[in-house]
Amino acid sequence: MNTNRYIIIEKEKKTAILYNSKNLKQILNIHSTYNVGDIYLGQVVNILNNLNVAFIKLNKWKQNGFMILKDEYYFNNNLRLGEDIVVQIMKEQVGKKGPTVTRNIILDYENVKIYPYSRDHVVFEKKFNFSEKQCLKTVTTLLKPKKVGIEIKKKGKRINIWQVIKNLRNLEKKSILIEGKIRKINCSPYLISPRQEIIDIILKKKLIEKDTVIITQSKTESLKIKKKLISSQIKKNKIYIEYCNEKLSRNYPCYLEYLIRALLKPSIKLNNGGHIIIEKTEALTSIDVNSGGFNKLKSSRETILWVNLAATKEIINQLKLRNISGIIVIDFIDMINQNDQLSLLEYLDKQLRLTLSGSKIIQISEIGLVEIIKQREERNIYDMFTKQCQACQGLGYKRNGKLSNKLPEYFMELSSIFG
Ligand SMILES: [Zn+2]
Repeated sequence: MNTNRYIIIEKEKKTAILYNSKNLKQILNIHSTYNVGDIYLGQVVNILNNLNVAFIKLNKWKQNGFMILKDEYYFNNNLRLGEDIVVQIMKEQVGKKGPTVTRNIILDYENVKIYPYSRDHVVFEKKFNFSEKQCLKTVTTLLKPKKVGIEIKKKGKRINIWQVIKNLRNLEKKSILIEGKIRKINCSPYLISPRQEIIDIILKKKLIEKDTVIITQSKTESLKIKKKLISSQIKKNKIYIEYCNEKLSRNYPCYLEYLIRALLKPSIKLNNGGHIIIEKTEALTSIDVNSGGFNKLKSSRETILWVNLAATKEIINQLKLRNISGIIVIDFIDMINQNDQLSLLEYLDKQLRLTLSGSKIIQISEIGLVEIIKQREERNIYDMFTKQCQACQGLGYKRNGKLSNKLPEYFMELSSIFG
């Protein structure tokens, strides 16, 4: 088999890993409760008008979703407490903050989006030429369901009108199905859209290319995936779906665990002896580049630049794998030579633009720290696979010595004096 793209799916952990040319490229994990695109019949449980937000109960036991009211201007009726409303998850939850929801529901497939509850509108992307627009106009006038918004985007060089028609019809069917379900439901909160599986996310992100091998744990699982691929109209040429033998299947979760743990570790070795340390806090991520083995003072200019360049490549790779976003501060090994500083910055800038979408250099501080910003796309690896450590309550360190949990009696007295 002539391929170098593998997607390994682990059902139990709701996780998939993607390899390209033997390199780990991406790790995907589906949230156990809330996923972007899910549609719920939710219940309004709190309205904070001064903050412009409302809280919507989506699940009896899990966090409530929150809705930013000023973004919902189209639905500008006054929400009532206890009211049932149909909402869609537009942003995943971050840490303790629940997912962001909206009433402006979008159903989309490939180049077509429909808004079943929005104002009646038809929008074509600007990139279409005149004749394409005329053609689309005819199609949408004939086929558009009433009181629905439609947006059509250009993907690829030419528009395939038949594909647009097909997508439009499928989305309309989907919307009717959802509508029917809403009418039948008599208890909220309720998940209306089908529960997403990891394969749905893989399809949505278009991660399956030609010559991809998808490896699953069992025959039943591989058959299920085959069905999904067929129903999602994906071109079937040269996609291989395999399942591993029983022994391998049993060892599979261990292997995944090993990968995840490696990705959670702060320290990463570089091939040339140096290493980087990635530390994530709530506000920002700091990355320290260390020369490691060699003595900084004795090292040549070239060696230091070389370690910094290698570190840059690994940093970008790790940011991608770990899905780290927000402010990232990098402390490179000091370089005195200005030309070296410039080459490093140029290299970093180029690599960011090429391989890390939504990222850029913000500033370089006086003491040589480089600040990057990266737009948030999805949960980072820490949100996916960790929770706060109960032993140290997030401190990350253990206090020296033996500690008694019981407070001495005079403590209360002292604390009343010193506050
Ligand atoms: Zn701890």
